[in-house]
Amino acid sequence: MSVISDSGVRAPSPPFTDEHEDLRATVRRWVESEIVPEQDTWERRREFPRELFDRAAELGFLGLKYPERLGGQGGDAVHDAVWAEELAAAGACGGVGAGLGAHTGIATPPIFSFGTAEQHERFLRPAIAGERIAALGITEPGAGSDVASIRTTAKRVDGGWLVNGSKTFITNGVRADFLVCAVRTRPEGGHAGISFLILERGMEGYEVSRKLEKLGWHSSDTGELAFTDVHVPEENLLGAENEGFKLIMANFQWERLLMALGAVGAMDWCLRRSVAYALERRAFGRAIGSFQAIRHKIAEMATKLEAGRAMSYAALRLLDSGQDALREVTAAKLFTQRAAVETADEAVQIHGGYGYMREYEVERVLRDARLGPIGGGTDEVMKEILGRGFGL
Ligand SMILES: Cc1cc2nc3c(=O)[nH]c(=O)nc-3n(C[C@H](O)[C@H](O)[C@H](O)COP(=O)(O)OP(=O)(O)OC[C@H]3O[C@@H](n4cnc5c(N)ncnc54)[C@H](O)[C@@H]3O)c2cc1C
Repeated sequence: MSVISDSGVRAPSPPFTDEHEDLRATVRRWVESEIVPEQDTWERRREFPRELFDRAAELGFLGLKYPERLGGQGGDAVHDAVWAEELAAAGACGGVGAGLGAHTGIATPPIFSFGTAEQHERFLRPAIAGERIAALGITEPGAGSDVASIRTTAKRVDGGWLVNGSKTFITNGVRADFLVCAVRTRPEGGHAGISFLILERGMEGYEVSRKLEKLGWHSSDTGELAFTDVHVPEENLLGAENEGFKLIMANFQWERLLMALGAVGAMDWCLRRSVAYALERRAFGRAIGSFQAIRHKIAEMATKLEAGRAMSYAALRLLDSGQDALREVTAAKLFTQRAAVETADEAVQIHGGYGYMREYEVERVLRDARLGPIGGGTDEVMKEILGRGFGL
């Protein structure tokens, strides 16, 4: 039986170059040698070690797309895309992908795009060096999909703002050194009254109120945060006052594409694992892969993987060339997240009882994948965006 996912040497598909493929190989080696052997322990501890940020920084992974003058690698967005896909494809658990990914993929990009030179020095440089951990705080207990209804307020005072409110489900929220935080700076106006402030651990009134227990992503710390009269100085305003919604929208496209690529990586891993198991496991005197039912499951997994990969790479090509990719990113996010849940579920089924066991890892991939249709905008919200795009 031939193995579909190992179908020979191929030239990298655009926009990937040989340089991107070298990075892919480096990330894979790192994940397989330094993350996979340890991650079950981290999952049980409900946290991967902080030193993983240091190590990722040392290898240049936290600054792939940022300029060398800030300590980055001077690469491009495609390098970051490879990083997101390969972490999952090489078998890193969702918690590690989420923690490192929230730092590189959603919390630091707005500082680079909207921050001042001074903010680059204070926040981005140490984040690239792994010295300060970043988180993005948009969701609140009363406002998730409906971002415009956030209630955390920032009231102008002498020299800055006074922030009151709370955030929930924040990835890296427990140990973040700073939080790129959406606040309401105008009571009226919905979208139009949102701004971003950078809140820092140690500011008086900034409190981690809870570390949350979850279905998956066990090794990532997901936090609930409370702010009571937190004084945030003027120089921590990110972007223009009352124009924070633009920042949210710009960030969402990249976050959703990274999630799509992560799901593609996870599907690839599930397929390779399942094929290997189907070739090795025997029942009724034969390898289970010789049963048509198992072969067809593998075929369906491979089809979802190819479709998800094609959609995600097409969206990446558009975004990378500076074109509008709203429809393509939204469709890729919608398709891949559900496909990854289904693929992981089939992987569990192919593994039989062993699939339900922790040591075989497919059960963890299934639990981790379940966040995909919820986080970064739910399936229902993706469908709304796509449907409205047709003028409906
Ligand atoms: C593990 C984890 C990590 C996360 N990390 C972060 C983070 O780092 N930073 C951050 O800011 N947020 C984070 N989130 C929050 C995440 O983005 C939200 O959970 C998500 O946007 C959904 O919001 P909600 O949970 O409030 O659900 P709700 O908005 O309350 O939705 C509940 C249900 O109603 C549906 N619904 C809502 N509106 C509509 C509509 N208009 N039409 C049809 N159906 C609708 C939804 O699709 C969903 O099925 C994280 C969440 C989790 C679980």
